[in-house]
Amino acid sequence: MYKISIIGAGNVGGLAALRLISERIGEVVLVDKLKGLAEAKMLDLKDSQALTKQDYYVKGTDDITQIKDSEIVIITAGLARQPGMSREDLLIKNAQITQEIAGNIKKFCTSSIVIVVSNPVDILTYLTFKITGFKPHKVFGMGISLDAARFANLIAEELNLSPNLVETVVVGSHGEGMLPLPRLTKIRGVDLDKFLDAEKISQVVKMTVERGAQIVSLLGSGSAYFAPSAAIADIVKAIVKDEKRLIGVSCYLNGEYNLKDIYLGLPARIGRSGIEQIIPPELNSEEEAVLNKSVKKLREHIEVIRKFID
Ligand code: NAD
Repeated sequence: MYKISIIGAGNVGGLAALRLISERIGEVVLVDKLKGLAEAKMLDLKDSQALTKQDYYVKGTDDITQIKDSEIVIITAGLARQPGMSREDLLIKNAQITQEIAGNIKKFCTSSIVIVVSNPVDILTYLTFKITGFKPHKVFGMGISLDAARFANLIAEELNLSPNLVETVVVGSHGEGMLPLPRLTKIRGVDLDKFLDAEKISQVVKMTVERGAQIVSLLGSGSAYFAPSAAIADIVKAIVKDEKRLIGVSCYLNGEYNLKDIYLGLPARIGRSGIEQIIPPELNSEEEAVLNKSVKKLREHIEVIRKFID
């Protein structure tokens, strides 16, 4: 069984653990630096075994050394967004936390695949890549597959059909700079504009971009965790089962769209070795302009956290 460590046993980490163990994707080590939290979640999860008639392979601890030799490490540690707080506001605090965690991953899990979830995800994935020194195909971020799922759900609601029939593409940075691509969105192979007019499409795109903030504002404290944990489990499953499936992840660019040394969300084939192929969709000039705008912002943010790398 794969050893999968989740660092950060909060809302996203705890629920990701449940999904991974109940789908038997691997055995999970849940770690949180808050004393007792991960252990409490482990006990609670184990207490459900007799009810669900399943065996749960899960450990909960505040001892980071327990991640040793994990095949996959997922970083969900950090602060969640509060109402009125942008993902970027979290930058410094979460960079500090990620710096410490990435150092431990480098020390204890020399050959693991690392999936970064904490926000701002594209920046923290870059930081994790730099600190671990792992190969780029083994360090990537979860973000735009969640955005694509939200886009699919909103289209499905608009058309009153199942989200399973909707195939969406979202690229770019996870957050306000994301770029949903209705032009490449299909419903059972048929272009979206056969179903919705331009005005409706741009409304749904706007709702997709704002979905995270909408949930933050309604929750009053913290951010989304049901769909994010499902997006994590989806990626981990693709690795463990060597599916080589196309999933949008934040990946290290080396020439795609003439961009280098940055992490950005693009569709990639995910399998046992992590990212097996990046498949950047062709963009028109308008889309490229949106992408370049968020790249500029990401580069500025990288400069803000550069002190944690050097
Ligand atoms: P949460 O506050 O419920 O949990 C975070 C946990 O991290 C806390 O339990 C905290 O004690 C722990 N933690 C802090 N520093 C730590 C350290 N050094 N080592 C171990 N644990 C540590 O937050 P959440 O809702 O679970 O969200 C977690 C992160 O995921 C946030 O940064 C959030 O913005 C991000 N997130 C990202 C996406 C995405 O699409 N990429 C989606 C949802 C949430």
